[in-house]
Amino acid sequence: MFEPNCTFSNINRQSRVSKAIEVEYDLIVIGGGVTGAGIAFDASNRGLKTLLLEKTDFASGTSSKSTKLIHGGLRYLKQFEFGLVRETGLERAVVHRNIPHLVHPEKMLLPIVKGGEFNMITATLAIGTYDWLAKVPKEDRKKTLSRKELLEMEPLLQNDVLKSGIVYSEYRTDDARLTIELIKAAKRFGAEIFNYMEVEDFVYNEGKVRGVKAYDSLKESAITFKSRHVVSAAGPWVDKLRDENNSLFGKRLHLTKGVHIVVPHSRFPLNNSVYFDAFDGRMIFAIPRGKSTYIGTSDTTYNLGLDSVLCTSEDVDYLINKVNKMFSTVRLSSKDVVSSWAGLRPLIHEDGKTPSELSRKDELFISESELISIAGGKLTGFRRMSKKIVDLLIRIDSSLPKVRCRTKNLPIHEHSFLDYKSYLLFIEDLKKKSHLKLDNYQFWYLVTNYGKQSHYILNQSLNHHSLSDSFAVLRAEIDFVIKYESATMPDDYFNRRSGRLYFDIESTQEYFDFIIDSFSEHFGWSQFDYNQIRARCRQLILDVTEFKSEVLIK
Ligand code: FAD
Repeated sequence: MFEPNCTFSNINRQSRVSKAIEVEYDLIVIGGGVTGAGIAFDASNRGLKTLLLEKTDFASGTSSKSTKLIHGGLRYLKQFEFGLVRETGLERAVVHRNIPHLVHPEKMLLPIVKGGEFNMITATLAIGTYDWLAKVPKEDRKKTLSRKELLEMEPLLQNDVLKSGIVYSEYRTDDARLTIELIKAAKRFGAEIFNYMEVEDFVYNEGKVRGVKAYDSLKESAITFKSRHVVSAAGPWVDKLRDENNSLFGKRLHLTKGVHIVVPHSRFPLNNSVYFDAFDGRMIFAIPRGKSTYIGTSDTTYNLGLDSVLCTSEDVDYLINKVNKMFSTVRLSSKDVVSSWAGLRPLIHEDGKTPSELSRKDELFISESELISIAGGKLTGFRRMSKKIVDLLIRIDSSLPKVRCRTKNLPIHEHSFLDYKSYLLFIEDLKKKSHLKLDNYQFWYLVTNYGKQSHYILNQSLNHHSLSDSFAVLRAEIDFVIKYESATMPDDYFNRRSGRLYFDIESTQEYFDFIIDSFSEHFGWSQFDYNQIRARCRQLILDVTEFKSEVLIK
């Protein structure tokens, strides 16, 4: 039935906290984005006593706001970042193999257009190099397409400037789900992990960082945790913690904002993902996913608050104009936009460079007081970044277990699919065997989000006899994310556990009260808390669906 063998819930949080404050950890990781989750996964697998603290929910920073591609970053070749492209390009197959239900092979079309970034010669050279660096198998390597062939694959690409095209291979993921599965895997390997626990300061012993002072926002209390090493993987907040540690010297972060908008697939019915020219020196992705197509991204320097990054009406207009230029029959308007997200890239500042020119390489900062911070990099490269950190710790501290990194061939999920074909067959099998009245989309949604755990969720739904099938499955899904994935607030579910906030916003409206009530039942909220949380969730939906001008936001 694929029941998880490790509960991971905030319902029994207090006893876990009480135990954690007694332990001296080998490693405290600050930040539950993909980088922190990857470090905790690797470290706990190698036997380090690990604690991870996340200030809100896992993946609530950049790791739920990316383009959701596992890719080498074709455009970085233009900046001669061959090392980065090779490293992340090679990682694609590794991440795909280690968690097939979350990393889907995706054919990407690159239209060659008059006045565009690439002509057929430079595109062939770039993608050929890309395939070669990433050791792409022969059958998946790029193919050049005539204008007619390209239009056969993607009729919506009709426009006056289209000359020809190339099709090449990438992978699509769900960044937040990937992060959460890494967190769960770390927990299975023995790490202790808390969301809603913000690190506010450090504990020092003879001038060296030997723990953290944290604030538990669920209990509204201050807590101290002890550790031999502290690694900050706080993404855009890395400099804030370096400042707290009095070590914000030399290189610093340069934050750039990237926005994505979502339209119904019926309004922009792409057959394939397309990587197309914005005609301003940038390139944009349009990617079909389930009921939706999403488009992104922008890349602009960002200096406002880190905790609420919004898509503005200017961002929406920018992306819509670019789509309408390349896909001239589609004629999108801002009314078609049903959801959006905006994230911050924690890049390393380089004098005189524009946001798009800044390197996507990761950077390590080690302070005199031994706070280790890591920032930059890509979602795709999380495993290698994690390896770098854990290797370093083992090198500098002889008391840590001398164990080699095993994550290259380590399935992330305890009930992993053997390969991609098994994942596809599993969906069909579930549909055939289930007696529940669900449509194809619902089966697909469950398995692409939860893998084999969807079998367990469907089974548990049978306990909710009084509900219709759709509601019974939803209730079992909510019970699952609360019991096994530490979901605590309804927005943890709307956004990072289910992706409904972006890819099925209608369902968040339809099931809104049912979801809030289910959470309330589990956590026993007072009427006051219930009203506050409900209002916050309403605001969350408005934040991704209503777009203010940036003049009003500033
Ligand atoms: P985050 O995900 O931001 O995690 C940091 C975490 O630390 C947050 O959850 C935060 O709440 C927590 N935190 C902060 N301060 C504290 C504290 N004091 N105490 C406790 N917790 C704290 N990469 C790809 O490979 N493919 C892509 O398609 C792609 N597209 C992108 C598109 C955009 C628009 C952007 C912005 C980035 C994209 N990236 C992509 C890059 C990728 O998303 C990031 O490299 C990655 O998500 C960074 O993860 P992180 O864990 O370092 O940071």
